[in-house]
Amino acid sequence: MKIIDSIAQRNGRPFYSLEFFPPKEQSTWPDFFNTLDRLRAIDPLFASVTYGAGGATQNNTYEIAARIAASGLNPMAHLTCVGATSEKLREFLTSLRNVGVHNVLALRGDPPKDRQFSWEDGEFQHASDLVTFIRREFPDFGVGVAAYPTPHPESDTFADDRLAMAQKMISSDFGVTQLFFDPREYFEYVDQMRALSIRKPILPGVLPIQSLDSMKRVLSLSGGSVLAKFYLSVENAHEKGGAEAVQEVGIAFAVQLVRRLLDGGAPGIHLYTLNRAEACLRIAEEVGPL
Ligand code: FAD
Repeated sequence: MKIIDSIAQRNGRPFYSLEFFPPKEQSTWPDFFNTLDRLRAIDPLFASVTYGAGGATQNNTYEIAARIAASGLNPMAHLTCVGATSEKLREFLTSLRNVGVHNVLALRGDPPKDRQFSWEDGEFQHASDLVTFIRREFPDFGVGVAAYPTPHPESDTFADDRLAMAQKMISSDFGVTQLFFDPREYFEYVDQMRALSIRKPILPGVLPIQSLDSMKRVLSLSGGSVLAKFYLSVENAHEKGGAEAVQEVGIAFAVQLVRRLLDGGAPGIHLYTLNRAEACLRIAEEVGPL
């Protein structure tokens, strides 16, 4: 089922969705699926699986999404178009369709860092080109897109960023945000989209911080900003009690964030699981029934 249809069926009742990355080593897959099974306790509306732009993990995205579909949970496969040909994308989308995966997060992705890359040579320049391609050739697919409350680092101005997003949202079903730590950033973003006539659901992405190192890594990859006070409390917890103390601070912060987002009318919460169950289960338990 298209995710947008299952959101509509909720009649405004919020939900959780989950994001996973495909573990590289197949030997770890039993643990991965065990984590996913534990997370069924929070009744996720869908589970998304990331995709390595141009990398070797693309087949893993397919296989994991296929197994999620076979297990009865609705999967969303991420898909990037940087450096891709329509032939390859068609092949990938057809293979998804054949195993019952009907939802895609349409992304541009980032160009490879280890070799020369020219956008002009590629068939696809922006995620919106991929959205158009999927709409034309795979109309039975649901299509989500990436959203950036802290503007995407390549945008020249905030206004350019919002306009490009609004353009991308016109033909897609919903957005999923990059992680952020200040709920006001999300609400301001939604307001800006509304001012540009975009009223489609934008799911806030919430990452429970689980260690100081992972916080640094995720921030450097995402380009997201972090509240200074929160950063200091994570650093302080790390010095005093290590990863366990950081996890407690991260969960407490995420619970507050989720509550503020839901109270302010977010349609659902997209949890960045980092392939771990514990923190997400604790958040859902402490937030209480949706
Ligand atoms: P675009 O929407 O194309 O935007 C890229 C830049 O171009 C932005 O600055 C935008 O403002 C600008 N732009 C867009 N359209 C136009 C236009 N028509 N004219 C001019 N400028 C334009 N990456 C992965 O490799 N694999 C993943 O699985 C993955 N999952 C993600 C999930 C989420 C929820 C998010 C938020 C990001 C994810 N990413 C993933 C990262 C993403 O690939 C990068 O952020 C990438 O740099 C941009 O992709 P995009 O789809 O947002 O691109």
